[in-house]
Amino acid sequence: MLGAVTALRPHSADERTEEPVLGRLGGEPDWLQDDETPACPTCATRMTFAAQLEEGYDFSTAANFGGGGRGYVFHCRPCGNAAFLWQR
Ligand SMILES: [Zn+2]
Repeated sequence: MLGAVTALRPHSADERTEEPVLGRLGGEPDWLQDDETPACPTCATRMTFAAQLEEGYDFSTAANFGGGGRGYVFHCRPCGNAAFLWQR
């Protein structure tokens, strides 16, 4: 469904693109500050990185992570928990 309402397109991480990059799925987080990988609130295990979001390049549609920030999504699959945090 997202493809029907957005101009965003996925690119392989090793595929160079001239288009603005708005985030990443999987891999390792590119922290702006120190590693803040959260612990799962249920099992206390270090959560798995899922996605990273950039603010965006168009002020009218950009996410607000405090001005030049990034959002990070983590999960713990066995417990079904997810966490979101941001840095700037
Ligand atoms: Zn857990």
